[in-house]
Amino acid sequence: MKKIGIVGAGFTGAVLAYRLALEGYSVDVFDSRPHLAGNCYSKRDKETGVMVHVYGPHIFHTNDKHVWKFVNHFDEFMPFVNRVKAIVKGRVYTLPINLLTINQFFDKALAPSEAKTFLASMSDKSIDIPQNFEEQALKFIGRDLYEAFFLGYTAKQWGIHATKLRASILKRLPVRFNYDDNYYSSLYQGMPRNGYTYIVEKLLDHPSIKINLNECFEYGHAEGYSHVFYSGPIDKWFEYKDGRLGYRTLDFEASRYHGDYQGNAVINYCDVAVPWTRISEHKHFVPWESHERTLIFKEYSRFCGENDIPYYPIGLAKEKTLLKHYVDLARQERNVSFVGRLGTYRYLDMHITIREALDAANIFLMAQDKGHDIPVFFVDPLQ
Ligand code: UDP
Repeated sequence: MKKIGIVGAGFTGAVLAYRLALEGYSVDVFDSRPHLAGNCYSKRDKETGVMVHVYGPHIFHTNDKHVWKFVNHFDEFMPFVNRVKAIVKGRVYTLPINLLTINQFFDKALAPSEAKTFLASMSDKSIDIPQNFEEQALKFIGRDLYEAFFLGYTAKQWGIHATKLRASILKRLPVRFNYDDNYYSSLYQGMPRNGYTYIVEKLLDHPSIKINLNECFEYGHAEGYSHVFYSGPIDKWFEYKDGRLGYRTLDFEASRYHGDYQGNAVINYCDVAVPWTRISEHKHFVPWESHERTLIFKEYSRFCGENDIPYYPIGLAKEKTLLKHYVDLARQERNVSFVGRLGTYRYLDMHITIREALDAANIFLMAQDKGHDIPVFFVDPLQ
């Protein structure tokens, strides 16, 4: 039986392990943390009984029918729609920017076509192709909305000015000229009834899968395996020998109360004067459960130090150069593939991670069948 090593027990590693174990491979999964599910790890808080997303809110949403069917196979997905609120200068608005946000912010009662014309009149016409986050915002929503909702939040979240940040980050958020305040524009959205850890446990529940928690995968380990899928940080594989790729990390400050703290799962604080970026109240992620007490997390973002958990890849020019260097080194490796958010240094949502892991497993199996080389990357990290 061929032995496969998988580094990282997040969704990428777990989906790969699941698929390969079903095809008859023996799989060893390693994770340096004491738990499964990577940054999707969820567990019940002992004091309140509330299911907590330990590394911050994870809301499952996708347009990919296959991925939706796949995850529903492992747990029941309960109806949940993320309706984010934002506090700006003491007033509450709805996000993503929609007709209600525009009308409340400008104290108007515009119809959709009027709001479109109005926002177009605010657009910075001097920007042709936006080169950064700020230009993207100034072109599409104008200075007033940009400064209220994005400038401060983005400075807190990324620790750099929005002119330094890539435009693609803002493209994650739509602007709507109707009253739809669903944060995501996805066909499918929901929350797993038993939490994300439960799904990962089920994915890995196979006699041919051996789980090694609290265990760092050392370079030398690779020799015992016919192939290794590595979903840890790409620079870590090379022992950071030429420098570290920059990430943002998050700190969470927990508090417990009786009743309902903020009446919603997520409220963003866009003013730069407020030190946290958002407050999440996790019992609102599970509206089908009822809890007398509540647990909230104030979320703070900062530069990721050597012993911190990496969350968001910063991806500035200097990181791009370093990433290219590590990608070039990686391409010279044999019998290892770099996968997932950290293995390819990309900002990935859960559904993309799962889709890519399913595709990687298929490509791997096909290559094995035909005796072809296994790709070092299944997607290009430099794109
Ligand atoms: N953003 C912002 N204000 C908000 C929400 C988001 O400025 O109230 C910006 C911020 O730069 C953030 C990006 O939009 O990093 C993408 O937001 P998203 O909600 O997708 O971030 P995530 O939930 O992944 O942290």
